[in-house]
Amino acid sequence: MARYKDSVCRLCRREGTKLYLKGERCYTDKCAVSRRAYAPGQHGQRRTKVSEYGTQLREKQKARRIYGVLEGQFRKYFKEADRRRGITGENLLRILESRLDNVVFRLGFALSRAEGRHMVRHGHINVNGRRVDIPSYQVKPGDVVSVGDKGRKNARIKEVVEIMEGQGTLEWLEVDRENLVGKVLRVPSRDEIDIPVQEHLIVELYSR
Ligand code: SF4
Repeated sequence: MARYKDSVCRLCRREGTKLYLKGERCYTDKCAVSRRAYAPGQHGQRRTKVSEYGTQLREKQKARRIYGVLEGQFRKYFKEADRRRGITGENLLRILESRLDNVVFRLGFALSRAEGRHMVRHGHINVNGRRVDIPSYQVKPGDVVSVGDKGRKNARIKEVVEIMEGQGTLEWLEVDRENLVGKVLRVPSRDEIDIPVQEHLIVELYSR
């Protein structure tokens, strides 16, 4: 499967905002956005006027990068969001939030979506008691997401749970971190999706 392999901090610098792609490091003064608050590359510090298309493109790239989704899959998500009833932009964010790697992160079993993806890929995550190793798997209300037997012995997962101790989760989810089990209660509302993206600009971009 194709995957972005370059430095992820460059992506945050390109978007001019923290995308929280690295977990713990994002909350320290080692964060590249705090250190160099300009776009990467030779011309990163140049001031340029951004066109309407450029603004729409940046919003789409930001959303794609936050969730770690490649262009082809993102476009498929958009088509599906457009097909569903309701506001297309919000549907798109709900589809992205329902990815299993995102839910693992939201439940606090991982400190970033990338780490969530890694856990899923390595077979540490069960959905309704069955192992699922597809990060893009779409969870549904009522699904129970848990760390499997192999994952329970994993030192990193134990460390993450210690870091997350005492922290709650979002209202559309329920979590029992001691037993490494979570449940999807419902589909999140737009207010519960705290990502800094103006989804209507993505809709405008794909509607050109
Ligand atoms: Fe982005 Fe985190 Fe890197 Fe900061 S440390 S630039 S928030 S990935």
